[in-house]
Amino acid sequence: MKNQKLKLVVGSGKGGVGKSMLTSALAMLFAEKNKVVAVDCDVDAPNLAIWLNEIKLWDKKIPVATSVKPEIDLNKCDGCGLCVEKCRFEALKMEDGKPKLNPFLCEGCGACEVICPKRAIKLKPVQNGEIRIKKTKYNFPLVSGNLFPGETGSGKVVSELKKEADKFESDLQIIDSAPGTGCPVIASLQDANFAILITEPTPSGFSDLLRVLEVVNHFRIPWKLVINKWDINPKLTDEIVKWAGKKFLGKISYDKKIFKAVSNLTPILETNLRAKKEIISIFVRIRKFVDYDQTSKTKKDLV
Ligand code: SF4
Ligand code: SF4
Repeated sequence: MKNQKLKLVVGSGKGGVGKSMLTSALAMLFAEKNKVVAVDCDVDAPNLAIWLNEIKLWDKKIPVATSVKPEIDLNKCDGCGLCVEKCRFEALKMEDGKPKLNPFLCEGCGACEVICPKRAIKLKPVQNGEIRIKKTKYNFPLVSGNLFPGETGSGKVVSELKKEADKFESDLQIIDSAPGTGCPVIASLQDANFAILITEPTPSGFSDLLRVLEVVNHFRIPWKLVINKWDINPKLTDEIVKWAGKKFLGKISYDKKIFKAVSNLTPILETNLRAKKEIISIFVRIRKFVDYDQTSKTKKDLV
């Protein structure tokens, strides 16, 4: 890292709860006074660029090869079929007396390489994704990861894109995590200084929130909670607010016009919707505890 920087991750257990909307707005708001880098770690479905209206013409694309697949030397292969038999993922099948790979089923486990008596199989790195970088019109760079369809290794792609994000001089990274609790989420959260968790007042939203919270607590990351679409179930919202106690940060209203705005590539902060005002007041509260002092370069009151 070129200098000390604060990493603020926006996470959710469930997809579709407003994580990228909140991340994009926070990046724009913090960028007014801070040197920000926006990082999209949702490599299976990266959409931070859409919320920032920055989908066209990336400045730079960096290939990533974090998975391996077998390469079979058919001249050495005698067609014994052992590799096909031992592949637990059914990624190999015999065709015309020789093994043929289905790359979409292959997990790169290496069992076929080990088992082959003729040493005809070698695991080779393959490009499974890319990192895309763009200087946004809001005066901060966006670093985004993209795992290619059918590929494995999402957590490793996130680790690589975070290394790229660290190359930018900044005092604050706003990170859009993948939903869920899998490898990309763990890679997104592992060195975070703070997590803003966002949920919606539905039984599945709350249940998934508890799951991601286990990861957040594992890494001992201080966190606060935002409830999106709070008015679709005010009773459950009240219960979640009570449960969260001092961790509760704010709520955002449900509004169909938000979907219209994003489909028109209009960032939420460039609308006149109620959600805009609600997000700004959430931002003001975040600033109070993630108070990054540009002059002294200290991190205050993170808990
Ligand atoms: S185990 Fe080796 S020799 Fe046997 S079919 Fe597979 S590649 Fe060919
Ligand atoms: S690397 Fe593993 S999953 Fe892929 S073909 Fe070989 S045994 Fe099957």
